[in-house]
Amino acid sequence: MKKLITLLLIVIFMATPAMAEKKIRWKLAMTWPSGLTPLTSPPAKLAKMVDDMTNGNFIIVVDGEESHKSALGILDMVEEGVYEMGHSASYYWKGKDVTTTIFTTVPFGMTAAEQNSWLYYGGGMELMQECYNQFNVYAFPGGNTGVQMGGWFRKEITSLKDLQGLKMRIPGLAGEVFARLGVSIANIPAGELYTLLDRGTIDALEWVGPGMDIRMGFHKVAPYYYTGWHEPASDLQFLINKQQYDNLPKEYQAILKAAMKAVSADMYAENFYDSAEAWAKMKKDYPGIQVKSFPEEVLKRMKEETEKVLDGYADQNPFFKRVLTSQQEFMNKAREWTTISDYYYIETSAAIQ
Ligand code: CA
Repeated sequence: MKKLITLLLIVIFMATPAMAEKKIRWKLAMTWPSGLTPLTSPPAKLAKMVDDMTNGNFIIVVDGEESHKSALGILDMVEEGVYEMGHSASYYWKGKDVTTTIFTTVPFGMTAAEQNSWLYYGGGMELMQECYNQFNVYAFPGGNTGVQMGGWFRKEITSLKDLQGLKMRIPGLAGEVFARLGVSIANIPAGELYTLLDRGTIDALEWVGPGMDIRMGFHKVAPYYYTGWHEPASDLQFLINKQQYDNLPKEYQAILKAAMKAVSADMYAENFYDSAEAWAKMKKDYPGIQVKSFPEEVLKRMKEETEKVLDGYADQNPFFKRVLTSQQEFMNKAREWTTISDYYYIETSAAIQ
């Protein structure tokens, strides 16, 4: 009998799947201050999912900008291993390597659906990793804002002349385009934006879209709200220190990857919902907000200057050219499908209302 019980116990033990039970505690640094949803949702939801999926064995502690005070230093901190993980937007590393900007968004570039297709199925993620190898970091998509609004301006922009001498917060390649149109540009973290706009240190800024923008209060000091051209599908990224990731048990790596993909898709849905709700509320509660599109002459110059900026980098930098070409070739195919599917569906169904 005793032998039988022992045998049974051995069989039960062998039948139990091998589960990693290693206790791991990681820290993740976000560019954003805590609570700034939906930007902060992917790390917060990731930490919860990983905790649940490992029965509390793999804990990720999320630090907002208010803890580490280095909103634009996330890549450095992950590279150096100060934090195992980070959550940010790739175009903040423009000064280190301009190719990183392409993995956030390109002015007049792809929509979120097009960009996700390129990243997951069109070779985009492989190129992104090739770019981040130099930083000893793994990079994964970490959410997408969809089309961003073109920003808040104190005064209406009626011509190219109105842009001359304007001081604006706008990061990435779009900032460079605005600079070529006579705008003095700066990249400023979220926490300082309202104060600088209110004081008149800057005349205009772009942030994200109606949900996040209205909560920041920009409309109180800059009532002209422009439609977007510069960030048609801004992707966020999870960054992970390579050694730390490689040292994880395989099960934890799989859990982390699955959770990153889930929270990334979730953030797009959450932000779309947030924007739609905020847009409806904005029209009702803030009639003083003037929604505008840039005049055609301004948009044309923006497009021309965008092409010059992209061509300039592609001429100097073969890797930039490879990534841009990959994106543009896919976009040319994808845009035909977007047009005949989404665009014509919306246009034809609106026409019969
Ligand atoms: Ca933005």
